[in-house]
Amino acid sequence: MPRYNRRVPSSIRVNLLDQRLGHLTVIGFGGRRNGQTMWVCRCDCGNVAEYHAGNLRAGRSSKCVQCQLDALQQTRKNLSHGYSSTSTYRAWTGTRRYGRCKRWEKFESFLADMGKRPKGSRLIRINRKRPYSKSNAVWRTPAETLREDVDRTLQAMLAAGVIDESKSARQRRRLRRMTRQARYQLRLSLNGNHNPQ
Ligand SMILES: [Zn+2]
Repeated sequence: MPRYNRRVPSSIRVNLLDQRLGHLTVIGFGGRRNGQTMWVCRCDCGNVAEYHAGNLRAGRSSKCVQCQLDALQQTRKNLSHGYSSTSTYRAWTGTRRYGRCKRWEKFESFLADMGKRPKGSRLIRINRKRPYSKSNAVWRTPAETLREDVDRTLQAMLAAGVIDESKSARQRRRLRRMTRQARYQLRLSLNGNHNPQ
């Protein structure tokens, strides 16, 4: 508890004693420090602390530090219906990078279309050349993503003639080996990606 005096020296021109400033009530004179007049105030929550006269008069101090933090947290919570700190919200912010439909400029619309992020899943564009939208996005689990990426890689290899599914047993073995390698590589890259959306 900071020390204070109920008697205010006559040299103090603006007497704030017993005044209410926001959530703070001035309960005493706290002396002078570094040329500044200090007042001791009790916050509505009960916390008692010292405040600079200048900050009080300018309205910069209107509640204690604890109440300021609480208010800040409350503001964050209220943002976007309390979703601002959730993985669903982070997934939505991620859609800005690759472009998204106009409707999804609002988080609420995105949430209405896609629902909450299922645990462990990522938001994937079905067609990666097109922006995010309800018709071009889906929640995928890491396993599903992996399988899709492997399939895409194999399709690309087949298309490029790197492998030929229909031919010899030797080529089929090669195909299986490449699949295993592709899966392994993709698993590594997925594990290295600590950016759950
Ligand atoms: Zn307080």
